[in-house]
Amino acid sequence: MSDTGLQCVLVIDGSPDIHYIVGAQLKSERVSLLHAHGAEEGAALAAEHLPDLILLDLDMPDTDGMTLCAQLKADRTLADIPVIFLTGNMDVATKVKAFDMGAVDYVTKPFDAIELKARVRAALRTKRYHDLLTSKAQIDALTGLWNRGYLSDRLSSEVSVMAREASPVSVIMVDIDHFKSINDTHGHSFGDMVIQQVGESFVRSCRESDVVCRYGDDEFALILRNTSGASALALAERLCTDVAALEFSRGRQPVPVTASFGVATSDQFDDLAEVTAETLLGAADKALYSAKSQGRNRARGGQD
Ligand code: GH3
Ligand code: MG
Repeated sequence: MSDTGLQCVLVIDGSPDIHYIVGAQLKSERVSLLHAHGAEEGAALAAEHLPDLILLDLDMPDTDGMTLCAQLKADRTLADIPVIFLTGNMDVATKVKAFDMGAVDYVTKPFDAIELKARVRAALRTKRYHDLLTSKAQIDALTGLWNRGYLSDRLSSEVSVMAREASPVSVIMVDIDHFKSINDTHGHSFGDMVIQQVGESFVRSCRESDVVCRYGDDEFALILRNTSGASALALAERLCTDVAALEFSRGRQPVPVTASFGVATSDQFDDLAEVTAETLLGAADKALYSAKSQGRNRARGGQD
């Protein structure tokens, strides 16, 4: 999706005429267009903009379209972008190879405007459903927060950003204290409401760039981009106070709820090569265990 909210189509073709024709034919469609005139430029634009559809020339001067398509499909972040080949006459074997490579469709030059629009529209419609399903599969049903699957993928990509930009990334693991007894005393639906409200309090107190996830059961995990261990610990302490201040009651009886917090940061590792999603979560979990064993309702960092 482009900044304008329109779906984005990347045209990769060696011929300026084709760019002109495709631009003219798709003018009436609600899409934004990006143009690349060779395979290398096309691969770079695809990685930078993550378009919703790629129209790819089969016969480019620098690399043939099949090779570029295979390269795109081998990259996890680009593999789901549908590719339509733009081609002169293709024999059956080439058509089969194109589909086997992961193309969703092909359009034969010279294009018929109505056919090109219909094929582009169909591919974009499928991409929209695909994106919707993917985002639903990554959301926790009870809280509406990101789920554990999303957390692992997102943390791995934040670790790559950290390595590339030399900016720290921190993680906070949270577990509600004595939650079993809250469930046992007040019922499972009351417990569910506690989980929801604790999650909402994190979203209220975090920055837009922080990623709040339900890790499972009564556990949450937060990814804090470009945040040092000291700042992450300060945030965890604030979140801890926020949870204790939430007001829950059954009838007139107040139900106190607290949580424990473990903080880990990329900075605490001597060797940055050791920093992975797993080692960060492991370190945060260890710190959480310290917070639990030191009395709960507190935050602990990696060095505590
Ligand atoms: P501790 O202070 O050591 O964390 O003790 P605890 O009782 O909170 O222990 P633990 O974190 O292991 O308990 C998690 C409980 O959460 C166990 C399970 O019954 C309950 N649980 C898991 N998922 C849900 C859910 O979706 N809703 C509700 N209400 N309870 C859940
Ligand atoms: Mg617990």
